[in-house]
Amino acid sequence: MTAVTAPAVRDGLHQWQQALRAQFPIITGHPELAYLDSAATAQKPRAVLDAVQTYLTTGNANSARGTYTWANRTTELVERTRERVSRFLGDDRPECSAVHFTSGATEGLRTIARDWLPGFLRDGDEIVVPDADHRANIEPWLEAQRLLAGAGVRVRVVPMPYQRSSGDYDHRALAERAGPRTRFVAATHVHHVYGGDMNVHRLRGAVGPDAVICLDAAQSVGHLPVSVAELDVDFVVFSGHKALALPGSGAVWARQERGPAFAPGGWSGTPNTVGIASLEAALDWLEAAGVERIERWTAGLAARLTDGLRRLEAYEVLGCPLSLAADSTVQRRQGIVTLRHRAVESGDLGFVLFSHGFMVRSDNHCQGDAGEKTGSVRVSLHVYNTVEEIDRLLSVLASLS
Ligand code: PMP
Repeated sequence: MTAVTAPAVRDGLHQWQQALRAQFPIITGHPELAYLDSAATAQKPRAVLDAVQTYLTTGNANSARGTYTWANRTTELVERTRERVSRFLGDDRPECSAVHFTSGATEGLRTIARDWLPGFLRDGDEIVVPDADHRANIEPWLEAQRLLAGAGVRVRVVPMPYQRSSGDYDHRALAERAGPRTRFVAATHVHHVYGGDMNVHRLRGAVGPDAVICLDAAQSVGHLPVSVAELDVDFVVFSGHKALALPGSGAVWARQERGPAFAPGGWSGTPNTVGIASLEAALDWLEAAGVERIERWTAGLAARLTDGLRRLEAYEVLGCPLSLAADSTVQRRQGIVTLRHRAVESGDLGFVLFSHGFMVRSDNHCQGDAGEKTGSVRVSLHVYNTVEEIDRLLSVLASLS
């Protein structure tokens, strides 16, 4: 795989991108602003806004509860969107998997930890926890460990090893740490601070055929192709709002082959039907736009930004400083670049950038304790972002060096 260069981005995808950008009313309505915080939440295309409006004005009802058209249509919407999620995730055997709707990635991960993991683990088992990843992918597993300890079941937490140079997982060290009692591995597809693709396709080889792998795909769904068939993982969890759907939507995809079936317990009540309608429209939109092209576009913009930052002494890029990890032709920086000004505090930098119209994220990014603590600013991209925005950002950053 070759690095994506900025000229290739400009030449091959420019018109495609312009046509897509034009479909985001909040973006076209604010030409003076540059939204660079899509890892926190993404903006919505017109098709998603229309799907919500259409649902609420032509068929709003509860699902699985009525005998009339709107109720039946809503039931169909929910079931159809389950299949949509499966297909979007490249599931080639949907009869062996299940899709459960949640309010987002956090709730998805907590549901697995609360309703499934305790029934799977036995006294003396080990779980791998990625303690430099997002807290949403750490706390639930530690909570499950505490709950099980209260019931006399001791579970050992093995910290996921990382490579210092790139922020990628250290798959070799993981293979050494993992033993026959390593039964559950929590991992993240794209790191929300370092922006690296964590090469999760290597996890299976490192932990063996029987361990359950749970993938937090909050930063990858909608940004790059996610194929459960290729990744050989058991759970995929994501947030709808980061994948162009409404806040309060998300899903857990579960393979149902290793361990007990994933069947979240308790009475779950009325599903978020509006969120589900938005999710169906968002996944349709993303597929039509071409997720692989979205990946090339946003990775290309990120490469342009990291290349520009390398010329500016005052800044440091967290994680892999380049777009490609030095020791790999596979790991690739996705559309997230987190940078630090050596002298300006992150909140101040965020404030100054907003005075120039740039919306970025500053603070510790909800990263686990093993992450780097010092303040930084995160620039995160989606298909609506442009080469001009990156160049303008670089010139403002240069003026502050
Ligand atoms: N995992 C990762 C990698 C994330 O970036 C985020 C959100 N920043 C979450 C989980 C939590 O997502 P949500 O707040 O939508 O539940």
